[in-house]
Amino acid sequence: MSSRRPTILLNPGPVTLTERVRGALLREDQCHREADFAELVQGIRSRLSAVYGTGAAHEPILLGGSGTCAVEALLASLVPRDGKLLVVANGNYGERMAAMVRAHGKEHVEARAGWLEPLPLERVEEVLAADRSVTHVAAVHDETTTGRRNDLQALARLCRARELPLLVDAVSSFGGEAIEPEDWGIQGLAATANKCLHGVPGVSFVLVRRSALAAIAANAPSLYLDLAGYRGQVESGFSPFTPPVHACFALEEALDELADQGGWRARRARYRALSNRVAAGLAELGVEGLLEAGASSASLRAYRLPAGWSYPRLHDALRRAGFVIYAGQGELARSIFRVAVMGDVRDEDIDRLLDAFTDALGR
Ligand SMILES: *Cc1c(COP(=O)(O)O)cnc(C)c1O
Repeated sequence: MSSRRPTILLNPGPVTLTERVRGALLREDQCHREADFAELVQGIRSRLSAVYGTGAAHEPILLGGSGTCAVEALLASLVPRDGKLLVVANGNYGERMAAMVRAHGKEHVEARAGWLEPLPLERVEEVLAADRSVTHVAAVHDETTTGRRNDLQALARLCRARELPLLVDAVSSFGGEAIEPEDWGIQGLAATANKCLHGVPGVSFVLVRRSALAAIAANAPSLYLDLAGYRGQVESGFSPFTPPVHACFALEEALDELADQGGWRARRARYRALSNRVAAGLAELGVEGLLEAGASSASLRAYRLPAGWSYPRLHDALRRAGFVIYAGQGELARSIFRVAVMGDVRDEDIDRLLDAFTDALGR
């Protein structure tokens, strides 16, 4: 048996840390204007490039802030002021991207599907055929609202046919799913340290196609979110604003841990195995998955609340047993719960989780 386990976080980030990553937080403090910190940043940037082998084509840029910060910096900086963004949405995070460009005062159009549906690709085709003024397309990869893995490859084909750059919210997929920035024609993607990469919250990043980064000019209606201001990081490792130094220590360690464990493929396989075990155990208790078979991401699945159970009651029963599950959002708040398996989640934790569900549901 292992030593006593902490409360296991089954929310989609922040994750239960491994001891290795937690240990990195205790490194000696650093000044962000010193050469050793710049070296750390460059090391993180090259490790991020190595995750999907993006090499020199896409520049990673680190930002102090949550995943939303990276998504917003991406849209603020890459969609020109006189551009027009098509946002393809089938969940809360897709709709949030539309809310961002609205806040930025940029022109946009939405191809929106219901939250239980796949990306509305036919609608995308219609919009693009009817509206030649669209300059960029944006979508979420793993839509955390329902745990659906969106078919970016199919969307990318539509974009490529019209030579439209694709901007991606990969916040909950980077490190835990297949992503092909080159083949999918991704101009920029946004992600964070504390989901599939297993770092701590506070540092997020964008990967931007080098040619697009060079061309950024006065697009952002924001100073902090203007990636042009961070271009210096590419050469020097320095950031214009105070970076989350300790979160960077943890991210470096987490990226080494990911590589040591076999990279994103091994992590995806691990997540799938854990998610499949949770789903099979819950099915035995009569708890159904929300989405059709095969539609879910590796790292997160949504389930229908069992009959007669409110989310708070189920949450509290599991919390007493040492687990944090996650509520549905918006229209799904009263009907579903979510289980993510990112972070230091072990086989024995899933055994205990299923025991706790069995006890709670009383079967
Ligand atoms: C978690 C998440 C976000 C937001 O990330 P924060 O770190 O909470 O700002 C954005 N998009 C997706 C798909 C997410 O899963």
